Amino acid sequence: MKILLIEDEARIFDFVQQGLQEAGFLVQLAQDGPSGLAAMLQGDADLVLLDGLLPGMDGFEVLRRARQQQVLTPVIVLSARADLPDRLRGFELGADDYLPKPFFTEELIARIRAVLARRHREEPEDWSSAGLTLNRVSRKAQWHATSVVLSQREFSLLGYLMRSPGHIFSRKQILQQVWDIDFDPQTNVVDVCIQRIRKKLSDSSSLPESFPIESIRGVGYRMRANQA
Ligand code: CA
Repeated sequence: MKILLIEDEARIFDFVQQGLQEAGFLVQLAQDGPSGLAAMLQGDADLVLLDGLLPGMDGFEVLRRARQQQVLTPVIVLSARADLPDRLRGFELGADDYLPKPFFTEELIARIRAVLARRHREEPEDWSSAGLTLNRVSRKAQWHATSVVLSQREFSLLGYLMRSPGHIFSRKQILQQVWDIDFDPQTNVVDVCIQRIRKKLSDSSSLPESFPIESIRGVGYRMRANQA
């Protein structure tokens, strides 16, 4: 599980980062509003911890812009401004929870787990886009007349792309998310895995070029969104 921490105070990000790492989370840090927003738009964190007061752009504005761009990642707002109007504003903008400073790491971690568990329960059992359906319980994928159970790796990769149709993910992001590889090992495992999924789901009745995972040359892959 990867947590994006958007926080500018070293004293706070140091202890939060340490606590989260000890609890087994991967932590990515952004120290101002614009770089925090950019990281949210990358879309590869499982949850975002967002400070309210940030240099460059405040946390509420970061949240508003991210939600406007269809970033659905759960967000917990951390803020010293714990009075009611601020809390309500956070929820109105799409925050999933709110934790006033100062807080204990234990409580933060408990809230992260609760938000992630709730999100998991609320997610539909089937992801579906551009004619392709993936069941997240059985790992069964269906396209046209072909239905097949994917391997865990194929499932993680396809699920990652399908949760954000239309969004282009780089090979590096995919390696990080699906293989947990944090560097560029000059490997083609991503391409090989995509080919395997495509092959498993294609039969004589389906045109290969209509398969909804698109290769974006020199960049990566994206799941085609439904036609409007
Ligand atoms: Ca701050």
